Amino acid sequence: MAINWIETEIIEHTRWTDSLASLKFKGNVPTYTAGQYTKVGLHIDGELVSRPYSYVSSPNDDYLEIIYVNVPDGVLTPKLHELKVGDKLQVMEKSVGFFTMNEVPDGKNLWMFATGTGLGVFISLLKTSDPWERFDNVILVHGVRHSNELAYQDQISEFDKNKPGKFTYIKTVTRETIDGCLNVRIPEGIKSKQFEELSKVVIDKDSQFMICGNPDMINDTVELLNEKGLERNRRSKPGNITLEKYW
Ligand SMILES: Cc1cc2nc3c(=O)[nH]c(=O)nc-3n(C[C@H](O)[C@H](O)[C@H](O)COP(=O)(O)OP(=O)(O)OC[C@H]3O[C@@H](n4cnc5c(N)ncnc54)[C@H](O)[C@@H]3O)c2cc1C
Repeated sequence: MAINWIETEIIEHTRWTDSLASLKFKGNVPTYTAGQYTKVGLHIDGELVSRPYSYVSSPNDDYLEIIYVNVPDGVLTPKLHELKVGDKLQVMEKSVGFFTMNEVPDGKNLWMFATGTGLGVFISLLKTSDPWERFDNVILVHGVRHSNELAYQDQISEFDKNKPGKFTYIKTVTRETIDGCLNVRIPEGIKSKQFEELSKVVIDKDSQFMICGNPDMINDTVELLNEKGLERNRRSKPGNITLEKYW
């Protein structure tokens, strides 16, 4: 099926680290559901090269935003990394994907497990009222290698400020020891019960789990949750685990 492309304009390029960055852009792109992704593209050597990216922005924002990592030897991301304010970015008109709140069954607690750029889609979801209205407790766990990859701290503080007593944010940094952060991979944090201790929320059938990020983290986390009797959520058979894989 032919893709309809919309030309947008870069309005901000935030560099969190040398290789992790966010792009804000504006254009006449139809609305989307928080948690969905689109394709963004650039003309490279006469060809439109595109890749899928989850929106970090939320439907109520008056801009569009993605977060990306500049993949060494990647095709698109080194070119995204060169973009400046005022440059053009092609965006697929339609947004797609099922990592959205309406695909997640009800529950008492909502756990969001992210590594690296996987955080972005949760920022989009948490900017909407759905997670807060449908769950008593929301726990966001972000795993990174180095502390400077802990993006969107201001936005996350705002969630915390606006939802007192309802939100737990757990940061875990694997290659540094940092005050206020754990130093474990996400599966280890589950196994050791450190996440349950910090959030005072038990990992059981009363919880829904949304997972996005590194495929090894996703596989290991799903395996651990399976051992606790929690299964993948499917439309034909609702479960407790909803996930999005980027590669
Ligand atoms: C549904 C969906 C949503 C996605 N959303 C995002 C997003 O929000 N942010 C984002 O950065 N990427 C996202 N991706 C991945 C993105 O589409 C590209 O694969 C990535 O940006 C690399 O593009 P590239 O052309 O530079 O590299 P390519 O030449 O296509 O190389 C791909 C390789 O890059 C590595 N890679 C891909 N994505 C990542 C990543 N996020 N972090 C670390 N290494 C990676 C993997 O080793 C992969 O095999 C998403 C993918 C899918 C399928």
